[in-house]
Amino acid sequence: MSFSSLVQDLSLRDSASSRRPRGIASASTIDDRASQVSRAMSYTSTAATSVSISGDISSQLHGGYFHPLARSWQAERQLTKSMLIYPLFISDNDDDETLIPSLPGQYRRGLNKLLPFLQTLVSKGLRSVMLFGVPLQPGTKDALGTAADDPDGPVIRAIRLLQQRFPQLFICADVCLCEYTSHGHCGILREDGSLNNGLSIDRISDVAIAYARAGAHCVAPSDMNDGRIRAIKLKLIEEGMAHNTTLMSYAAKFSGCLYGPFRDAAGSAPSFGDRKCYQLPPGGRGLARRAIVRDMNEGADIIMVKPAGQYLDIISDAKELGRDLPVAAYQVSGEFAMIHAGAKAGVFDLQSMAFESTESILRAGATIVISYFTPEFLDWLST
Ligand SMILES: [Zn+2]
Repeated sequence: MSFSSLVQDLSLRDSASSRRPRGIASASTIDDRASQVSRAMSYTSTAATSVSISGDISSQLHGGYFHPLARSWQAERQLTKSMLIYPLFISDNDDDETLIPSLPGQYRRGLNKLLPFLQTLVSKGLRSVMLFGVPLQPGTKDALGTAADDPDGPVIRAIRLLQQRFPQLFICADVCLCEYTSHGHCGILREDGSLNNGLSIDRISDVAIAYARAGAHCVAPSDMNDGRIRAIKLKLIEEGMAHNTTLMSYAAKFSGCLYGPFRDAAGSAPSFGDRKCYQLPPGGRGLARRAIVRDMNEGADIIMVKPAGQYLDIISDAKELGRDLPVAAYQVSGEFAMIHAGAKAGVFDLQSMAFESTESILRAGATIVISYFTPEFLDWLST
C-alpha cells in the first residue's frame, strides 16, 4: 500500500469511528448514518488485509511517545544526579571568591568560601567534584611545576578537608602541571621547548600519587603525555593504592578554542607555543580511537572525551571500544559559555539547551558528565 493510500485509509477510519452511530438518532440523520455505516463496514472488510501488508504497522510510531513519561523511556540513559561531576577551581588564597568573567556564574574559591558553598550543593544531592588548583601567590610557579603536589597547596588541602567534611562526596583530582609551571605547559620541557615525555610522566605520576595519598578517590591526568596512565597505574600498585583509587584518563582530549574560559579561570595559558603537539587535532578520529585503546590497555578505569558536544562521534567510539568501561565526557568551559551566550541573546531557553546538550552526550554513550551546569541540574532534577 502506498503512503498516500495509507493516509487516506487512516482518515477514513478516523471519520468512521468518530461518527459511529450511538443510541437513537434523529430522523434527519438516518440516511447519512446509513451511508456512514456502510462506509465503515466496507472499510472493516478491507482492514484486515491492509494492516497485514508489511510496512504499514511499522510506520506507526506516535503511540510510543505521546506521553511525557513514554517520551523519557525512549532514552537509553536518563540524566541522574549521580552522573554529574562538578569542576571546582580552588584558589591558594583561602578567602578568595572571585567570579570568572568568561564562565557565567562560576567562581574561583579559597577553602573558607568553598566549604559553605559545597554544603548547599551536597544537601541538594551533589555526588562528585573535580578539583583544579589555581595558585595565585607570586613565585609559586616554576619549570617543574613543584607546587602541584605541595602538601600545603590548594588541591591537597582541599582533598583532605572535603573528605573530612563530606565523607559521601566522590573526590576527583585533575592531575596536570600546566597550572603550576612557569611556562604553562602540561609537562617538563627540554632546552628547545619541546616536551620531555619521560620526565613529564615521572613527575605527573608522582603528583597523582600525592593526590591519592591525600584521599582523592579518583585521579584524572589531563596532560596527554604518552604513557602516563601506565606510569600512574604502576605507582598506584607499588604504593598499595590501586585497589581504592579510580584512574580516569583524559584519553581523547582535543586541542581547540573551547578552553579559553578555563584558562582564564585556572590561569594556565601557555606562555609560548600551544598544546597541539600533545592534544589531539579536531579531525583526528582515528588517533582518538588509538589513544582510547592505548589508555584502556595501560590501566584506565574510566575513559574521558573532551570537549563533549563537538565530539559526540568520539564519545560513541569510546563506548564502542570501551564497552566494559564507563565513559565520561567533559562539557568544557567554551561549550558552557556558548550555551549561556545563546540563551542571553534569546536564541533558546537556557535550561532546555542545558538538558538537550547533556542528553545528546548521554545518547552518544557517556554515563558520566563533567559539567558546569551541575548546580543548576541539582535543582532542575529535583523538580
Ligand atoms: Zn595541562
